[in-house]
Amino acid sequence: MDARIGNTRITLVSGDITEQDTDAIINAANPSLMGGGGVDGAIHRKGGPDILKECKLIRQTSWKEGLPTGEAVATAAGRLKAKKVIHTVGPVWSGGDKGEPELLARAYRSCLALALKMGLKTVSFPSISTGVYGYPVERASIIAVRIVLDFLKENTGIEEVRFVLHSPRDLQTYKKALETAYLQKN
Ligand code: ADP
Repeated sequence: MDARIGNTRITLVSGDITEQDTDAIINAANPSLMGGGGVDGAIHRKGGPDILKECKLIRQTSWKEGLPTGEAVATAAGRLKAKKVIHTVGPVWSGGDKGEPELLARAYRSCLALALKMGLKTVSFPSISTGVYGYPVERASIIAVRIVLDFLKENTGIEEVRFVLHSPRDLQTYKKALETAYLQKN
């Protein structure tokens, strides 16, 4: 299912975030910005050393203690098709009462705000926090689509937000969340 808010398309696909041709792809990074597993590992492997070089510079200049949860920064995308990688840090799931929903919402918002500020018109998101960080995907999907819909209602300039889900099951989960949120809001 695809949806539309004003002039923005919201699309859901099953696939690999590193293969997306959108202006920006989002990395589900960790505070070190030095790479890791999952999406993070795949982006650095395929994108090459240019990405890590800029991540190191960001650590040396702006975020010496590491990127806080919910923040976002942009780097080059190296050999990837995207123009930029936006790195964000989602919350680690620890039961749901440690502020995880608000932190996850903040991560999505920070990425969208940064893309908009940089004039990046098409953006692909992975399912932030639902891998190694353990956030239950049903709960995460509801927050992800709600924040995207809310942001697009308040801001114009982004043409496509694409959710790239790694498994058919996650795709179904996000579809359900989008249908529910879209029906409630339109
Ligand atoms: P986090 O540490 O934020 O949980 P992960 O990278 O471990 O991030 O996982 C986030 C989600 O991304 C998981 O659902 C995982 O299956 C998925 N994923 C892993 N690799 C890719 C990829 N190459 N493209 C898109 N999604 C991916």
